[in-house]
Amino acid sequence: MHLNPYGEDAVNLAADLANRRPATAGELADRCQAAGLVLDRPVTPQDLERTHAVLEAWEKVVDATGDHERAELVNRMLTESAAYPRLTDHAGSGWHLHYRDDRQPLGSVLFALIAVGTALHLVGRGMHRLRRCAVTECTTIFADTSRTGRQRYCSQRCANRDAVRRHRAGRAAGGMDSRS
Ligand SMILES: [Zn+2]
Ligand SMILES: [Zn+2]
Repeated sequence: MHLNPYGEDAVNLAADLANRRPATAGELADRCQAAGLVLDRPVTPQDLERTHAVLEAWEKVVDATGDHERAELVNRMLTESAAYPRLTDHAGSGWHLHYRDDRQPLGSVLFALIAVGTALHLVGRGMHRLRRCAVTECTTIFADTSRTGRQRYCSQRCANRDAVRRHRAGRAAGGMDSRS
């Protein structure tokens, strides 16, 4: 996986893993590979454990109440995870930057990737563009990569669900919705 200037793939991978936590090292490996990550060593239970810790920290970033708190939490992740950036062509897929030391286990790779990817996403697209779905009982996290930056729902399904609910609430409140 190459980090693009907006960190999109990395932040989407973080959301995917956080929304549905991998249960085994094998599943973690499969899902990282599906997301385009090149694994250059076997994935272990320690990697899975480390990944859960990364996601724990990352969900705090998602749930931060303001920009400063969010920045502070991302900075903490960056401090713990990142080494100096370096050019690499380790997978023969083109030169790109790594923000970590070479030959790290997957857990550490994910820590650096998610921290840097999230930082790039937030500064590139907007500090507010990381949140949970607006449907109360849906806790799905998403990175808002929309053009307007005003995405409120994790999916079209949740958007429809909320529209129906607001419509019903409007009618219950005394026919506020004149079209019904
Ligand atoms: Zn790489
Ligand atoms: Zn949702």
